[in-house]
Amino acid sequence: MNERVNLDWGRLPFKFNGIDGYVVSRCRDDQWTPFEVIKSEFLTLHVAAGVLHYSQTIFEGLKCFEGPDSKRRLFRPQDNARRFAQSAEMMRLPHLSLEKFMTGVILAVNLNRRFQPPYGSGASLYIRPFEFASAAQLGVNRSTEHTFIVYATAVGPYFQEGFNKTIALYLTDWDRVPEKGMGNAKAGPNYGITIASQEEAKVFGCAAPLFTQPPAHRIITETHASNIAFIIDGKLVTPKQNSFILNSITRQSVIKICEELGIEVEQRDIEISELANITEAMGVGTGAIISPVGRIRDRNGFLKTKIENPDSPGPLSRKIYEKLLTIQQGEEEDRYHWNYIVEEI
Ligand SMILES: *Cc1c(COP(=O)(O)O)cnc(C)c1O
Repeated sequence: MNERVNLDWGRLPFKFNGIDGYVVSRCRDDQWTPFEVIKSEFLTLHVAAGVLHYSQTIFEGLKCFEGPDSKRRLFRPQDNARRFAQSAEMMRLPHLSLEKFMTGVILAVNLNRRFQPPYGSGASLYIRPFEFASAAQLGVNRSTEHTFIVYATAVGPYFQEGFNKTIALYLTDWDRVPEKGMGNAKAGPNYGITIASQEEAKVFGCAAPLFTQPPAHRIITETHASNIAFIIDGKLVTPKQNSFILNSITRQSVIKICEELGIEVEQRDIEISELANITEAMGVGTGAIISPVGRIRDRNGFLKTKIENPDSPGPLSRKIYEKLLTIQQGEEEDRYHWNYIVEEI
């Protein structure tokens, strides 16, 4: 095996921690070029590229874990490929096949082999595939050229606290997506728009904003980067999928794991008033993994919940987290065929 880069694996932040390079393919007239390997962190782009002005861009985020057997496992990458195709369709970007997506991901994982965190470190290799409008344009319209890139870097958990400390969420009155929007697309415009609400959440001492559904703002949707799930009366209750919510692959996995653990699952609308009945809450996503939530507040103060100890993760959150991690890390049988083993090259 290649030597790894020198990083503090046990204490990695969720940020860009360097790459050896990326792979790129370009599309004109629905024809994608073969991948090219670029051993750099930089990209040459036309100053009038559509993405720079009008945000025609979509992305994915997935992780690769090294197991106790030293094998590298991608978690459910074909599901990311399918969601990428759906995001492309919604944003009217050219379609990229599942095979092309997978090839790009595997090339990027191997190219950035030195950034694969070792087994047991709690860190993982984060893979970022994205597609954007790259032709020169002035008016707002569909671009004549698009670019697909995949890079991979080493990351720790999204919320620095990791699993052991709880986070607080800020119930914001900003909207992440409009009433008829594309919140179910992992598309640039849905993310840049959340920065103001993230900063507002920080001002109130919270790790992330929690959004509600316009126009009534009574039904909880998700945070800017993760889905949300609650424990109410011993059941896992999580919002049902709609255009306000990015369809999290981690959340789908949590639902399966709950079945296995004998935890009943409800997918339905959740009213803010129901927060009074929650005994646990968790952010759910590839970056967040399972982020236990201890407190939820709005601008007037903390909301009343039934969370017993807001400073430490609840028992069901812990069970779910541990199960998910042991599967992702290849520590137990992959019953659901979620893991894709990356061959050594
Ligand atoms: C990516 C993302 C998630 C998590 O989805 P996963 O497939 O679990 O990584 C949840 N919400 C938003 C807004 C996201 O962008």
